[in-house]
Amino acid sequence: MTDQIAPTVDPHENIADLTQFVIDSPTSYHAAASVAQRLQAAGFSELRETESWDASVACGKHFVIRDGAIIAWAGPSTATAGAGYKVLGAHTDSPSFKVKPKPSITTFGWNQVGVEVYGGALLNSWLDRELCLAGRLTLRRGSELREVLVKTGPLARIPQLAIHLDRSANEGLTLDKQNNIYPVWGAGTTANDVLGYVAETGTEEKINAADIVGYDLLFADSQPPRVFGAGEDFLASGRLDNLSSVHAGLCALERYVASGAEAAASETVMLAAFDHEEIGSGTRSGAAGPFLEDVLVRLSAARGESTEAYRRSIAASVCLSSDAGHLVHPNYVGHHDVVNRPVAGGGPLLKINANQRYSTDSVGAGIFALACDKAGVPYQEFVSNNNVPCGSTIGPITATRLGMRTIDVGVGLLSMHSAREMVAVDDMAYLTRAIEGFYLS
Ligand SMILES: [Zn+2]
Repeated sequence: MTDQIAPTVDPHENIADLTQFVIDSPTSYHAAASVAQRLQAAGFSELRETESWDASVACGKHFVIRDGAIIAWAGPSTATAGAGYKVLGAHTDSPSFKVKPKPSITTFGWNQVGVEVYGGALLNSWLDRELCLAGRLTLRRGSELREVLVKTGPLARIPQLAIHLDRSANEGLTLDKQNNIYPVWGAGTTANDVLGYVAETGTEEKINAADIVGYDLLFADSQPPRVFGAGEDFLASGRLDNLSSVHAGLCALERYVASGAEAAASETVMLAAFDHEEIGSGTRSGAAGPFLEDVLVRLSAARGESTEAYRRSIAASVCLSSDAGHLVHPNYVGHHDVVNRPVAGGGPLLKINANQRYSTDSVGAGIFALACDKAGVPYQEFVSNNNVPCGSTIGPITATRLGMRTIDVGVGLLSMHSAREMVAVDDMAYLTRAIEGFYLS
């Protein structure tokens, strides 16, 4: 197969890189910053949405951050009116617990943090884990506001009730979202200030807690990811949904520009990592918001395109929407389709749903088949058991919002939305390669 891309991705080197990426990305804000840092090292320059963009942004390597989302692109050396985009879509956020206003609570000698549930967390999986607190603070000095990213060390824990106090726990654990999940982070009868603690320990910068006027703080498992299994075949890690796709897209983009492919390309290759997928994407940095369209319209202006040429460019574009999916679970095979049962190490999933909860159609399936063929990687189809409701993702939202042809794919996991999910080491290398194949084919 002479037209295959080379060199291959080493699965274990790739997993070590993913491990560090997950550690560096406890929240969506950190994930966007991690991607930005890596892209800067690869020669991408940051653009700001509030500044004017000249014609040069249509060519070369750039990125723009909007809160916890980032869009990066590598344009061809000459911008052609009507040329398409190859967009890898992903999301930076994961289910978690988000800190409420007036968060410092003292109950019977325990210091606790008031939280809301963010997204569809598997609540039981968050029990008895040492959690760090991370996110962004908005600081005020006079009339000036600025943001700073913060991350503490292991700080808190949601302690499970002893079985002696609830003999029915093994018959089906029920957790009340208001009464049973506030993390414990200290002992004492006086209220300790959790925000003060974050200000003091969450960043190297000296922050005065009184300057904090707002915050987006979420808990994350402090335990680093770990490879396990007889053949070191698996990775256990938090936030694989969907840092798996963000990382694979980032690596594919790095590899694409390292090969110099953009110089010879006519299309623009793009990575769009949105925030807020886990809560429905309907925000200014989510896939249902205008972020991608805003960037595309501005790139169109940079190209000097007419509206007609812009519409042609959208018609010529493809979005590969990558989000984590499900491997067949050996203890619950009845929850899966009878025939389509993705296995660990079998390659990325091509997600299909008759009711368009996934946006893949036959043409999209063909495009993904060509990308995987170019990369020399296998892939496997995912479709739900008809009696099990199907999840959805940013794919159908992007297709509906922009009219761009969209294909839903992603790596297969076990334990999706658990605080600690699992993935096959080989599948992560395959996903990176498949995205690279998509960029190059
Ligand atoms: Zn997801």
